[in-house]
Amino acid sequence: MKIQSIRGTHDIFGSDLKKFNKIRKQLVKIAKSFNFNEIHTPIFESTTLFSKPLGQQSDVVLKEMYTFLDRNKDSITLRPEYTTPMIRAAISNNLLNSIPCKLFGLGPMFRRERPQKGRYRQFNQINFEIFGTSDYFADVELIIIAHNFLKSIAPNLKFKLFINSLGDKENLKNYKNDLKKYFLKNIKDLSEESQKKIHSNCLRILDSKDSKDNKISLLAPKIISYLSSESLNHYENIKKTLNELNIEFIENPFLVRGLDYYCSTVFEFKTDSLGSQDTLIGGGRYDGLIKLIGGQDLPGIGWAGGVERMILLMDEISKTEKLIHFAILKDNFKSHALKAYNQLSSKNLPVFWNYKYNLKKSLSQASNENASHIVIIGDNEFEKKKYTIKNLINGSQKIADLKDLEKIINND
Ligand code: AMP
Repeated sequence: MKIQSIRGTHDIFGSDLKKFNKIRKQLVKIAKSFNFNEIHTPIFESTTLFSKPLGQQSDVVLKEMYTFLDRNKDSITLRPEYTTPMIRAAISNNLLNSIPCKLFGLGPMFRRERPQKGRYRQFNQINFEIFGTSDYFADVELIIIAHNFLKSIAPNLKFKLFINSLGDKENLKNYKNDLKKYFLKNIKDLSEESQKKIHSNCLRILDSKDSKDNKISLLAPKIISYLSSESLNHYENIKKTLNELNIEFIENPFLVRGLDYYCSTVFEFKTDSLGSQDTLIGGGRYDGLIKLIGGQDLPGIGWAGGVERMILLMDEISKTEKLIHFAILKDNFKSHALKAYNQLSSKNLPVFWNYKYNLKKSLSQASNENASHIVIIGDNEFEKKKYTIKNLINGSQKIADLKDLEKIINND
């Protein structure tokens, strides 16, 4: 019986795993330099944590959540996103007693979407969140972190930052009313999908991928003229600071994001190198969300980035690490080999025992696995209590005593 993996899931290993580990390493480094604290939360939560805050009419809640009844009939959902679980965790663990509270995390999310390149049903997200401040500089700080992070994992990648403001709740309500009226007037020219969204989720018509919808959206009212002076000021300050920092951005009045909880600043980092799943990082403000989840009335802002999409874009990681294979030519040379094996591994040099006891097979395996060195133990080495150490990158070879092996390998 051959058991297949579940559609939309994937295994991460080999060169992709190296990239994954590099992402994690850079993430921790950047988070530390901006003094964000890491948090891990469970991968499943009560369904109510997601259904209301994300929006009953959002695609995620309507079609994509993995929801099931536990044996005692509690409704449980595999987390489709990280912001609401992080807020839940911050409330549960009293982390909001000291604000601003800056958290980050990395972990798997689950959405039952149609799988394609860059879109999976289980995927990993990186999240950065700041709870407890409405200062525009928090928005800028998170954009700087996202920008620096992308540069650090993929220095050659070309990406663009898009920004928009959705204003406060009142601004957005007025805007949605007018937008609905406009789309109703043009209903015949909208795609079938968007016609259905006019009453339930009219904002999402603006970021539809259908060209018919895009044509209608071009002449739709723009949110900018609905912003209060406070919202406008917040937005202007962000733009001014990004300009001062030489972080390029493009204003996109059609950028609305998928979930209901967003307000004020929204932003996305996109690339042309990924096909249709082109958003690497998306984020925005969600003032009101912490209160909705049962905490104090505190503002918040954050972003999420897709690890699998980043992996698709990263350059191959060149092999600079050490890996020491062994070619032990006879069974009775094992104990002599073991001394070197133990010594090198105790110095944190990765060693590999291949169980082959044959020079040709050992050399071929070492080359297939990109080993940096091979320690050869034949008759001569065994008799003289020495080791031949061959550098597989430049071909040089030395005969050494046990005590010198580590130094030779590390200096090579
Ligand atoms: P969202 O929570 O939808 O704003 O997504 C944030 C980021 O997560 C996106 O920009 C993608 O990089 C990534 N992402 C979202 N959904 C998926 C998915 N189904 N598969 C892979 N990555 C995803």
